[in-house]
Parts: sequence; C-alpha cells; structure tokens
Amino acid sequence: MQKDTRFWKREDSQFILSTYGERRIAFVKGKGVYLYDVEGNKYLDFLSGIGVNILGHGHPRIVKVIKEQAEILLHTSNLYLIPHQIKLAEMLVQLSFPGRCFFCNSGTEAVEAALKLARKWGKEKGKFEIISMENSFHGRTCGSLSLTGQKKYQENFLPLLPGVRFIPFNNLEALQKSVNSKTCAIIIEPIQGEGGIHVASREFLEGAREIADKREVLLIFDEVQCGMGRTGKLFAYQNFEVIPDVLCLAKGLGGGLPIGVIIARDKFSDVFQPGDHASTFGGNPLVTRVAWEVIRILKEEKVLQNVEKMGKYLLQKLLTLKQEFPWIKEIRGKGLMIGIEISKEAKRIKDLCERKGLLIGTAGEKTLRFLPPLIISQEEIDEGMRIFQEVLEKL
Ligand code: PLP
Repeated sequence: MQKDTRFWKREDSQFILSTYGERRIAFVKGKGVYLYDVEGNKYLDFLSGIGVNILGHGHPRIVKVIKEQAEILLHTSNLYLIPHQIKLAEMLVQLSFPGRCFFCNSGTEAVEAALKLARKWGKEKGKFEIISMENSFHGRTCGSLSLTGQKKYQENFLPLLPGVRFIPFNNLEALQKSVNSKTCAIIIEPIQGEGGIHVASREFLEGAREIADKREVLLIFDEVQCGMGRTGKLFAYQNFEVIPDVLCLAKGLGGGLPIGVIIARDKFSDVFQPGDHASTFGGNPLVTRVAWEVIRILKEEKVLQNVEKMGKYLLQKLLTLKQEFPWIKEIRGKGLMIGIEISKEAKRIKDLCERKGLLIGTAGEKTLRFLPPLIISQEEIDEGMRIFQEVLEKL
C-alpha cells in the first residue's frame, strides 16, 4: 500500500533534524510545470524548487542525458581530467567573460570559493575586509553566512568571520565611504532573492564597478538565484552591462542536479594554486554533462525569449490584481523572478495557495515570491493567477 502524507510527516519528525519547519506535502512525481503528491493531488509549480527546476520537471532531454551518462560514468574526482567539466567551463566562459571556472555542488559553496579567492588575492596586499549588502543572502555555511546581511540567519552562530561590513543595498555613497585600503572584495546579488526580490539599480552596479577598479577591490556578483536565465538574460549582470570579477552560479545550472560554480575573470584566474581549494564531488561527469545540456536547451528552445515574454505577461496580470487589492504594496523583479510585497502575512497566503494546488514561495514575512519554471506557458500562468486571485478574494 502507498504510504500517505501522514506517514511521511511522522517519519520526517522522527528521522530528519528539524531545520525546515513544518513540511506538509510529499511529492512523488513531476512533469513540466506540475508536481504530484503521494495522494495523487496535482500542483502547479510557481517556485521551481526555489529557482532550481528552470526547465520544469522531467524535461525529456534532461532525462535522456542523465540516463545516458549514468550508464557511462558518474564520478571520478577532481584528481583526474573531467572532459564534461572542461566543456561546460568553456561554454560558460564563452557566454560570460574571459576567465576560468571552479566547480562545486551548491550556491553556498560557490560563495565560499569566491570568498577564499578574494581573501587569497588580498592577502599579500594586506586586504581582507569584505563589503556586503544589508538584507542580502549568500548561504548557510559559516563563510557565506558571514556575508549574509540578515540578523535572523546569523544570530545563533555568532561570532562569524571577522572583517565583513554591511552597507544599505543600492546606496552608492555608503559603498564609496566603506571601501578602504583593507577592502579586498564587494559582494552583491544583482537581484536580492531571499531578502525580498530587490533589484539593484544600474547606477549602483556601475558605481560599484568603478569603485572596485579604482580602489583595487574584487567585485563579486552572487547570481545563485537570479542567474541562469531567470531574468530573461542568461546572466543577471547582462541586464546592467556591468561585468563582475567573480560570478557565482548554482541552482538552475544543474536542471535539478546539485552544482555550483564560480567564473573568475582572467585577471584573477591565477589566484588559486594547487592545494588552495577543492571539492570531491564538484563538477563530476554526470552533473556537468547535464548542465551543458541545460544551457543548450535554453538556447535551442528559445527559453530566454519565453522568460522575457511570460515575465511581462505575469507582471501585467499582477499589476491588474494590485489595483483590486490595495494591500498589495509593490511588485518587484525582473523576468520570472517576481516579488509581491503585501501588508498581510505572506506565509498564510502561501499556505492557502498550496492548499488550492499552487506552489509559491515567500521572501521575508511580507513578500510573496514567484519563481516559476522558465518554460511556463501563458495558459499555465493564467491557471496559476486564477488560483492566486481566488485565494486573495477569500482573505
Ligand atoms: N546565494 C544566493 C543569492 C541564494 O539565493 C542562495 C540560496 O537561496 C545561496 C547563495 C545559497 O545556495 P544553496 O542553498 O545552494 O547553498
């Protein structure tokens, strides 16, 4: 007999450490933009596993390469050449800027790699401080957590890494003032994700680039959430035409498999030397073969064009709703990364949507977050918005 949700909830509380709060749904199957739970209920996915499933669930080309590669080779370690890893790095560099890559397994590890690269680069110059943004999110490991500008994530783990200063996001003057002779890096999410979907201004990123060049400081962009096509460009920085020195990617790159990567610009690509950094799993043959396919699909199936079009369509629909519900305060974002700030409790609305078969996220207490698969169609958006409207009307 199929085990039901109650069974899995009981087992969950018995065997899984309670870092995630209540988990109410057990999914067993996914296809396109839909997920199905153990009881056979169908859900429309407007969250993509927090921005991961950019091609939806069970994309036939992804399934095919996973099967093929699983038959051939899964893992060898980074003691040996990994042709798929090298091919993926070449593709990423060609699509971004001249440089070289380091592969790991998650967003937080990509940020850790960027942090270590910045620290090593700064060491002989006596630079070690890092400037990060208030309200930012860079991950949960102790290095990335040190860069995360939100008390609620840090407070139980203090003291963290010394030498990190936080300045208000989008405040160029504050950035200017905080850079000193000890600063080795500035880290910015071009669109803050967990912090509530706040888009950087072009002036801020251009200014940060200028300061970084003038004061000899590394500019790191954390595109773990906003990269990989989410904004309608492959990389979010391409919307602002400001190129970072180090780019952090993860989430969508693996099409559902765990991967993280940094791309370090040419000028900084000799900083790491053998022994400085490593990962056992990072960039293994399976995940890099799949990531390579993900990028090809984005191009061949014109996914970025779809993001542009569907992003505008979804935004329009939400703006119409905003007229009707005055407690919708602001709609922010780019492409298919959308935050809806409300004056009500976001979690409650998220839960109600879930009960009606629409999966959405929150980003903070007062912001709802939509991160649908980038392949979503107009009809699927209409379906999601119908459910969303129904929920709002019943509040
Ligand atoms: N950086 C950003 C901008 C993120 O949004 C996240 C996760 O949400 C991370 C880093 C951490 O990524 P991961 O959970 O894969 O470690």
